[in-house]
Amino acid sequence: MRFVRSGGDGGGEESANLYVANCGPAVGVALAEVAAAFGVFGEVAAVHPADGSGSRVVVCFADASSSRAAMAAWGGTAPCPALGGRALHLRYSVSRPPSPPPPDALSVALDAEELALPGLLLAKDFITPDEETELLAEVDARPWRRLAKRRVQHYGHVFMYETRNVDPSLPLGDLPAFLSNLLLRIASFAQLSAEEDDEAGTARVFDQVTVNEYPPGVGISPHIDTHSAFTGPILSLSLAGPCVMEFRQHSPPARKAIFLPPRSLLVMSGDARYAWHHYIPHHKVDFVRGEAVRRGARRVSVTFRKVRSGPCRCRHHQLCDSQSGGSAGR
Ligand SMILES: [Zn+2]
Repeated sequence: MRFVRSGGDGGGEESANLYVANCGPAVGVALAEVAAAFGVFGEVAAVHPADGSGSRVVVCFADASSSRAAMAAWGGTAPCPALGGRALHLRYSVSRPPSPPPPDALSVALDAEELALPGLLLAKDFITPDEETELLAEVDARPWRRLAKRRVQHYGHVFMYETRNVDPSLPLGDLPAFLSNLLLRIASFAQLSAEEDDEAGTARVFDQVTVNEYPPGVGISPHIDTHSAFTGPILSLSLAGPCVMEFRQHSPPARKAIFLPPRSLLVMSGDARYAWHHYIPHHKVDFVRGEAVRRGARRVSVTFRKVRSGPCRCRHHQLCDSQSGGSAGR
């Protein structure tokens, strides 16, 4: 179900749902507080984010008389006493079926078997919701570095975006203790195995971690992680919000897409890591099996990589900066 503002003056066509602007987690009002505040007018069935902004919500009452009462009381520009004097902007909201997917939309796989991309693996529910909450709290307690469209944290080695490589001579030190349990679980993850070009024994020893925070609508452009920079598989744990990741190769031309739910671990090795570009389209709504899936207020990914010490010897010579001066990772 997707909610839209009802048009017209005076709050629009009456319904049991209210579109409320200047209200939501992004302006310091939790959805539960919204529900409690509007509860004085009648039974609140649900409070949803109206969009990815975090500052607009839809309050769904059980009946229209409650929304009418709320509109009468708080529909003007007077500050709302129940929400700390905040000036709300109210309209009636009507529900509308989701818009159809764009005609060029890729079919989105829900698991790696369906995606059928050699070297790609998706472990769903790799961590529990409690572990996810803990990880996010640990990450949020540490300083972020702000890039143009997203925020990042680096551990082990700094990743240099200008060269798409690390500076191996400038290690940041050991990975932080809050990642220890996760690293142990990864080390005992049965499906993770060494591959053809691994430097000996590196498949389970990660020494570079990048945390990315993506706001709604922000993705990442197509890239192949620089061959010469990292060895072994590249792992990415999704937290907080879902997204669709796409993969493409140039010859023969092909595109594929997979849905990454929160708490899932994506493993890229072999062709998926060395030969296919991966990216996250820059939009706020993904279409998955005909359903519009809104990205969360944010998605946080934790990427695990192993810094390479010698040259890459993969079989994708055209794409390999170690072998042909290829610019795949640039
Ligand atoms: Zn290579």
